[in-house]
Order: sequence, then structure tokens, then C-alpha cells
Amino acid sequence: MISARPVSLSILSAGYCVHPEFLTLRGGALRPVKFPAGYAVIRHPDLGPILFDTGYSVRFFQETASLPDSLYRHITPVVFEERDSALHRLREAGFDPADIRYVVLSHFHADHIGGVRDFPQAKFIYLQKSYDAVRSLGRIKALRAGFLPGLLPEDFLARSLPVTPESAQREFQHSLPFEKAFDLLGDGSLLAVEMSGHAAGMMGLFVSTAEHDYLLCADTVWSSRAFRENRRPHPVAGLIMDSRADYEMNFQRLRQIHMQYPELRIVPSHCREALAAWGTGGIR
Ligand SMILES: [Zn+2]
Repeated sequence: MISARPVSLSILSAGYCVHPEFLTLRGGALRPVKFPAGYAVIRHPDLGPILFDTGYSVRFFQETASLPDSLYRHITPVVFEERDSALHRLREAGFDPADIRYVVLSHFHADHIGGVRDFPQAKFIYLQKSYDAVRSLGRIKALRAGFLPGLLPEDFLARSLPVTPESAQREFQHSLPFEKAFDLLGDGSLLAVEMSGHAAGMMGLFVSTAEHDYLLCADTVWSSRAFRENRRPHPVAGLIMDSRADYEMNFQRLRQIHMQYPELRIVPSHCREALAAWGTGGIR
């Protein structure tokens, strides 16, 4: 087991966007394909359900109703049904939105933070660097960075528990291409690593259930095929990357982890294949 304490994990998605596959995977199809907005519900034995990202919510459509933010929707058309929202799924599983004590955010792109306002009691955990990268952007620059500030609640900062280089860390018991991990809850259950490149300060999360180890790698790659078949995105996709050099470093890390630990389940947020194989449809 990679983490020190098992949790239960549900891998889900809330909405999807559509764009040509070749942009995300060299040699991929020209036709538009679906990219689900993945998120996860981690059920911690003491702390209850914890979200890793949220996917889209209906608020995304409100925030992108008029120019210039409506450009976002024209560039990546989004399809969303309320019954797939994190809020709806949690309610369906018998949880009240106020039961959610923590929402972990991999990065601040709209398809990851779309539902955060639905959880009024949640504390937000993210790498400080990921919020610093978007917090003071003007409206147009924020839009170019895929960030819609209206998706965050007014008391976002007051409810934040940002992770800084000084935060508690833990050595891995396995040989992984990371020196240490941030121990988000202090009990070794959620081990976070920085996987910048797609976005500055993006977080990857190692979690283990009783049966399997997982790396929720957010947008380090858009699909499992990318690291398995060593296929990078089209150079044009580099335009929306924060750092091509960091992207390459973390791409290589995923390849190395996959080769060293083929049983470890690497879950990119937008990978249909990973969702089909390990997605749970509901919360367990
Ligand atoms: Zn992203």
C-alpha cells in the first residue's frame, strides 16, 4: 500500500466537454471526442466524504452566459446534467452538502472547481502555488487561464487550508520519482505531490483503498494512452500549458510510475478509459 491508511474511493464525472482528440494525443482522431470532467469522492474512516475536484456544475453555465466568458463555452462545448453533479451524487448517497468537510482542488480550471460553492462547510485544500497562479489575473487573462473566479465562494480564502513548502511532508515507503509527499490530513491517508506543467502548482494525489493503490493525476495527461503509448499532446496544446518543461517532467514521471508499478491505477481526470474501468457510477 502506498498511502499509510486506506480509504474508500469513488471515481465519477460531472459533465463533459468535446474537442478533437488529436489535440490531446499525437496521432489521435480529428473528430471531436468526449472528455469527461472527472472527480473523486474519498470516504475517510474518521472525516467522512472528501472531494477531489468537483467537475462541472450548473453554475458554469451561469458564469459563462455573457462575453467575454461565453468564449470559454464556444471553444470547448460543455454538456452537463444535474444528476451527474457532485452535489446530486452525494445527496443520492445520503449525505448532506454540509457533511463535506474537505474539498481538495488539483488546480483552478473551471472543469475542476465548478461545484465548490455547493459545499458551504468545506475547507479547501490546494497547493498555494496553484492559487497564486490565478488569484490576481484580470478577467481576460483569467479566462485564458481557464479560471472563472465567480465559481469560488466569497469566503473562499477564509475557508482555505493552502499547502505550502513548509506543510507537513512524509517519505514514500516505495521508490517513486518524488522525494516526499504532502500529508494532507496528517495521518498518511492522502499523499499529495506537485505535478505542474498543465497548470502551475497542479496537485496529484496518492490514495489507497484496501484493494488498490491510486494516483489521481488530474490533467498531467488527458488519457491513460498518453503515458502507456508514450504519446504527448499536439504541440498546439502547448499554448494552454503553464510550462512545457514541467509538463514533460511529469509526463516522464507517470511513465516511470506506470512501468515500475503496473498495478497502480493512474487516473487522469478526463480519461474515458480510466472512468470506464474504475469509475463507480455512484458513491460507495
Ligand atoms: Zn486543467
